[in-house]
Amino acid sequence: MEKKPFVTKSQVEEIVRTYPTPFHLYDEKGIRENAKKVKEAFAWNPNFREYFAVKATPNPYILKILQEYDMGCDCSSYTELMLAKSCGFDGKHIMFSSNDTPAEEFAYADELGAIINLDDFTHIDFLEETIGHIPETISCRYNPGGVFELSNGIMDNPGDSKYGMTKDQLIEAYKILKSKGAKKFGVHAFLASNTVTNEYYPKLARELFELVVELKEKTGCDIAFVNLSGGVGIPYTPDKEPNDISVIGEGVHKAFDEVMVPAGLGDVAIYCEMGRFMLGPYGCLVTKAIHEKHIYKEYIGVDACAANLMRPAIYGAYHHITVLGKEDAPCDHTYDVTGSLCENCDKFAVDRQLPKIDMGDYLVIHDTGAHGFSMGYNYNGRLRSAELLLKEDGSVKMIRRAETPEDYFATFDCFDDIKIER
Ligand SMILES: *Cc1c(COP(=O)(O)O)cnc(C)c1O
Repeated sequence: MEKKPFVTKSQVEEIVRTYPTPFHLYDEKGIRENAKKVKEAFAWNPNFREYFAVKATPNPYILKILQEYDMGCDCSSYTELMLAKSCGFDGKHIMFSSNDTPAEEFAYADELGAIINLDDFTHIDFLEETIGHIPETISCRYNPGGVFELSNGIMDNPGDSKYGMTKDQLIEAYKILKSKGAKKFGVHAFLASNTVTNEYYPKLARELFELVVELKEKTGCDIAFVNLSGGVGIPYTPDKEPNDISVIGEGVHKAFDEVMVPAGLGDVAIYCEMGRFMLGPYGCLVTKAIHEKHIYKEYIGVDACAANLMRPAIYGAYHHITVLGKEDAPCDHTYDVTGSLCENCDKFAVDRQLPKIDMGDYLVIHDTGAHGFSMGYNYNGRLRSAELLLKEDGSVKMIRRAETPEDYFATFDCFDDIKIER
């Protein structure tokens, strides 16, 4: 499918008068329309809830948009919990799906009344020792091992992943949790990442539904929800078709009717923790071409770098690039588009066919709405950019300011013998 930016050259020219490049820009209209579609796709399940994976886009203004659709937050760290609390999410709207969890984070999650999702069997004792009891509602993360396969091949490799419990551990865990006072139980699994196919959730759901029926039989536990977690993908490359969430919702519905309803489990809620699917396509990184270099290859240097968007550098991930104002120009030049880090992997694109780029051109790097800004870091003393929200009425609101050198040096501010100045 053709990839079109949600912002035009003239809009960007207007925005940069107030907010210089680089910046991440989010599309409020797109976020809202997608959130509505997600809700509609699972409306057949009365207690359905999406807990947005906060790590994907940890910005309170974004979380508050999703809150309007009664969505919750999926947190995995102390600061993510703080963010959810500060945005006014109550415990019922906070899922704490963490792993390798420090004690103080379990304690804080419990204090907020969040739903705790245990990553490991040993965390039962750890949690009980930490908070002095087992919560009434509790969830466990499942890892079936092996590989996760769909009709188009192997999607991922749970047997190689650090998350979750084996089936035997899971059954034992529910028995123990029940004996320690837990009353309502959830099952969670995240078995494949960025799946660009409508098959993933339905297949995962069927597997978890069958597991839940077995768990119910073997433990007598009252299963309250099945959490399909994240993993619903987006088409980063133009050759892929986007997932259709209504088809996905119907696929889960069918498995539910075939497995859960006959087992008397028709009132179990479906939860999910999508990050990428909720925000990915509705954010972009806007950057300016500031250098061109002609050596053994043709390079375009931009004013953003991997500190603003790490995915290409660490995973070799493809992010589509549009040169604004040249949407219809022939892609007859081959460029590496680079940032300034002293790391040769700092390239947003390698051997990419693009229109001729002139200095001062604005480039839109697509699909940075999830796991984009949030993966940013400060290597080379590079500063994180601003985040801007393109509102439905076309106006722009700054939802996070750009970092300044003072932010970068703030962790030295408690030292009397060190003073860093311009
Ligand atoms: C990262 C993560 C998610 C979100 O994954 P997406 O691929 O962005 O949908 C959800 N749940 C957990 C536990 C995660 O670690």
